[in-house]
Amino acid sequence: MIKENLKNIKAVMPSSVSLVAVSKTKPNDAILEAYNAGQRIFGENKVQELTQKQLDLPEDIEWHFIGHLQSKKVKSIAPFVSLIHAVDSIKLLTEINKQALKNNRTINCLLQFHIATEQSKFGLTFEEVREILESDAFVELQNISITGVMGMATFTENENQVREEFQALENYFNVLKSHYFKFNDNFEHISMGMSGDFQIAIEEGSTMVRIGSSIFGSR
Ligand SMILES: *Cc1c(COP(=O)(O)O)cnc(C)c1O
Repeated sequence: MIKENLKNIKAVMPSSVSLVAVSKTKPNDAILEAYNAGQRIFGENKVQELTQKQLDLPEDIEWHFIGHLQSKKVKSIAPFVSLIHAVDSIKLLTEINKQALKNNRTINCLLQFHIATEQSKFGLTFEEVREILESDAFVELQNISITGVMGMATFTENENQVREEFQALENYFNVLKSHYFKFNDNFEHISMGMSGDFQIAIEEGSTMVRIGSSIFGSR
């Protein structure tokens, strides 16, 4: 079942787009089923759940943290996390840098933009992102790498609205690329698209989709 689901999703995805299999709340045997079908990137949104799964599951899994991250919890995932998708403050970025340094590594991060109309979704405005990138504090951060942007569209049946929100994120990415990351090849990711909207996201330039329920079933 999981294997079939993965195959069906991959069939409608360009190979250049990365697939993050969102395994939050799902047991290890479900993750192993996806792993045995060749999937290596998994996304989790709770620190405790992620650290336990990282201990129990194969070492070559690339773990992405996709949820809202509290500064005080960065420490537990810093030794192994391969990408943090939802960075939304200079405070969090500074803490990630500190913990990355302690672990003698660089941690890749995406800046989360607020693109949805819903109040409840986290994320930064374009102005707030500029403030971060132009701050003195940011220049000091040698153990983080900003590898792109992330966003979540509004949960709605209105396909045009979702499309416009993804277009906005792609536009933010392009503006940041040309202003701040022109000579930085690591700035390359637009993380957008979930089970319900990933095909629209890919049409609008997504390079990384985060898919849970369409792979593992509903939560
Ligand atoms: C849960 C979650 C997903 C996956 O959602 P599905 O609708 O199950 O595909 C993607 N991104 C984030 C940030 C999530 O929290």
